[in-house]
Amino acid sequence: MADEAQNYSMFNSQALVDVVGDTTDAALKASRIKKFISVLGGRFFNWGQRKSLFPLHLGIKCCALEMAATGGSRFDAERFGVFFRSSPRQCDVLIVNGPISKKFADPIVRLWEQMPEPKWCIAMGECAISGGPYYQSYNILEGVDTVIPVDVYIPGCPPRPEALIDGFGHLRKKIMRSGVKSASGPVGDAPIILGDD
Ligand code: SF4
Repeated sequence: MADEAQNYSMFNSQALVDVVGDTTDAALKASRIKKFISVLGGRFFNWGQRKSLFPLHLGIKCCALEMAATGGSRFDAERFGVFFRSSPRQCDVLIVNGPISKKFADPIVRLWEQMPEPKWCIAMGECAISGGPYYQSYNILEGVDTVIPVDVYIPGCPPRPEALIDGFGHLRKKIMRSGVKSASGPVGDAPIILGDD
């Protein structure tokens, strides 16, 4: 009797879910609803991703002061749906705002890997782009893109808060483009360089 009860509960949990799942899947495949739902869901998530960016609250050097000003009351990045968070596990944008020493290369890659997908990287300032004043120095990387893929480059020493806000705008356009498929695959994967258009 106990075995029957056990079998009945197993049917309820696993087999029932399988049967309902297969039936629903077959019905959705027969109609075009499945494709419609996946396109609609993809566009909805893409809209949510680009309208609510969560950069990591990480300051490396002087460009970090401009990043702080961007989040402050005068420039108020929250107007544009940009919310700074202090845990990489809650973030989807890494703003690299200073030179990356060889000693700091591993920790910043670790922070990047702790961020969930999908995620994007902004190289803010000359130091993050190429090493800046420390170019070809013995202990500074020649750009953060030697260890992390960069989506948006914002030149300047330092770039002003308006430039960072502009960078977020370009990142939004890139996220929107990356959701569009072309005949040759996803478009919009190339990095964006502010002022290069
Ligand atoms: S780019 Fe200029 S302002 Fe920014 S961290 Fe480097 S030296 Fe400082």
